Amino acid sequence: MIAYPTTLPVAADPVAPLPVPANGAPSPPGTFVPNILLVDDRPDKLLALEAILARLNANLVKARSGKEALRLLLQQDFAVILLDVSMPGMDGFETAAMIRQRPRTEHTPIIFITAIGNTRDHIAQGYSLRAVDYLNTPIVPDVLRTKVSVFVDLHRQTELIRQQSQQVNELNRALEERIRALTSANQELEAFNYSIAHDLRAPLRSMGGFARALVEDESSAMSESGRDYARRILRSAEYMDKLLLGMLTYSRLARSELPPHVVDLEEITAETLALVEREVRERSVKVEILSPLGRVLAHPVTMRQILANLIGNSLKFTAPDRAPLLRLFTTRAPGFVRLWIEDNGIGIAPQFHERIFGLFQRLHDSQTYPGTGIGLALVRKGAERMGGRAGVESELGQGSRFWVELPASE
Ligand code: ADP
Repeated sequence: MIAYPTTLPVAADPVAPLPVPANGAPSPPGTFVPNILLVDDRPDKLLALEAILARLNANLVKARSGKEALRLLLQQDFAVILLDVSMPGMDGFETAAMIRQRPRTEHTPIIFITAIGNTRDHIAQGYSLRAVDYLNTPIVPDVLRTKVSVFVDLHRQTELIRQQSQQVNELNRALEERIRALTSANQELEAFNYSIAHDLRAPLRSMGGFARALVEDESSAMSESGRDYARRILRSAEYMDKLLLGMLTYSRLARSELPPHVVDLEEITAETLALVEREVRERSVKVEILSPLGRVLAHPVTMRQILANLIGNSLKFTAPDRAPLLRLFTTRAPGFVRLWIEDNGIGIAPQFHERIFGLFQRLHDSQTYPGTGIGLALVRKGAERMGGRAGVESELGQGSRFWVELPASE
């Protein structure tokens, strides 16, 4: 027979709810204390079970009947249920059947405990209710403690994983919220940029117009330095207008829809080269296209803008000591086509490879190489907005290879 203790250890509050902190946040890892449900109609047996399991770090919750057990199971989760088979009214098997019918408790481990003879039918009935064990009295305390502790540990681990995945979900939600807020702030900024660039052009045009009038109509009434100042004002106004136009194009690209079409890279390259045909001829630029270039999914207008900028730069940043060369070819990565635009020009030192894709970033003064520093920012933004990327490989003095990677059309 089971030896009942004479002095009983004080168990934790049996009806303590699951340790959910007041703010709803999960308890810190390692502090979670699982519940164990002890069901027996006899208080002395409940006390004995309590004494055996007191050393486990768990809340021991007692029920004097199947009905009370079911009520407690509605309020709390349990790591394991120790269920007496022979109870007046609803017996252990009936109680287990009810427990299994509820989704919340259909998988809660049950250990049947009984003093009834060890008949095979009885055990079979216990296992048919998906009980995980069936123990006869007298109970060996160490055996019971070991069995129960396995479920307590399992429950603690499961709870930890649940809490962690809940934390991950909450973080994800917060992250998504933040991305939404940033995207909307970004859109507002882009709209703001656009309207500033747009509104600045009107007074600028008027300044430029008056400067031009001075240069063209009033030049005889001015001294040489007066004429020089007027010309400089005019040049600055024209340059600033180019910058504002570039900003407008960039803002438009960032904000507008770019529906994808199948774009034949060879066709679009030929179209872009046709625009600079005269320059290519006059400067004896050697152009090589390594066919076939393939097809991509892209927004044709944006694709033309990208190509015009990259080809334009290749023709602009040429080295004085060699005949300019422009080579276009493609390589493939799974799902993507990478178009390369290679030149044998002045090249770019590696530390500037990222910087030059920023808005208004230039490595040379505008006397040597005119420009606004907007072209490559457009290239990158355009590529990204079409689901691709853009980059460069280059060494100073060794020419450059710019690339644009876009989704393949196949
Ligand atoms: P822009 O051509 O108006 O200066 P970009 O944004 O197109 O502006 O280019 C930014 C800078 O990157 C250029 O000023 C230049 O310093 C460098 N760069 C771009 N393309 C090339 C190239 N093919 N070879 C060498 N440097 C280049």
